[in-house]
Amino acid sequence: MRLCRFDDNRLGVVEGDTVRDVSAVLAELPSVRWPLPVGDLLIAQLESLRPSIERARVSAPRRALGEVRLQAPVANPTKICAAPVNYLRHLREAEGDPLTFSREHVRKIHETGLFLKATSAVVGASDGVSLRKTDRRTDHEIELAVVIGRRADRVDRNDALAVVAGYCIGLDITLRGPQERSLRKSIDTYCVLGPWLVTADEIPDPGELALELRVNDEPRQAASTRDLIIDVPGLIELASSFYTLHPGDVILTGTPEGVAPIVPGDVMTARIDRIGSMQVRVSSSG
Ligand code: MN
Repeated sequence: MRLCRFDDNRLGVVEGDTVRDVSAVLAELPSVRWPLPVGDLLIAQLESLRPSIERARVSAPRRALGEVRLQAPVANPTKICAAPVNYLRHLREAEGDPLTFSREHVRKIHETGLFLKATSAVVGASDGVSLRKTDRRTDHEIELAVVIGRRADRVDRNDALAVVAGYCIGLDITLRGPQERSLRKSIDTYCVLGPWLVTADEIPDPGELALELRVNDEPRQAASTRDLIIDVPGLIELASSFYTLHPGDVILTGTPEGVAPIVPGDVMTARIDRIGSMQVRVSSSG
């Protein structure tokens, strides 16, 4: 199932080029008070809500997909875990350009581990990316994004896919420079998630997905998740060995070769097999 959050926090099921508005189901979520429970309430309840969503979609009002505003499919992740250099050819590309990629940042993921992006950086496809510090280079990075579905602490890689709620496309937008990754990659709008969440049952093997990113129709990145240095189960094992993963947490799996600059006015088109594609506009906020 393809689930989108659209317009003003409405819940939709995507069917071809239409969206079924199943927001009525959200009334079944538990009402909560401060302090809010840890994790994304909808993602945490997704399995139990699914029969209601399936029932509701049959007669739910239809909207044209092109006419809705797509928000990030996860509203409240507690963290965005991200893999640095996790494709060998991207490592070679970074090693070959020390002026752009600071040497201390270019190491294999087995040495570096993961980093975190601020959750406040998350936006949806229709929100677009608003660049800051435009005197410096900012790059696109397309990545398969894994959305965690249940609390997961120290998960073995053999059990790892069972904790996944679904997948979406992630754009790990990156300001280049010597500062810490988490700072440069946490600027507002620098974590695009979308266009929707594809539930895990539709993607039994996340290790065979082609991904591609074009800017203004010019091909920039094209690869397959089969070339990940640490695969999706391995990343879940690694992340959960350090911290508990909560429903709605996101793992950005790393970007392949072909990262390149974006400037205001650009339109990025990102596509991943079995998920779909999204167009994301780039603007500037100075
Ligand atoms: Mn990245």
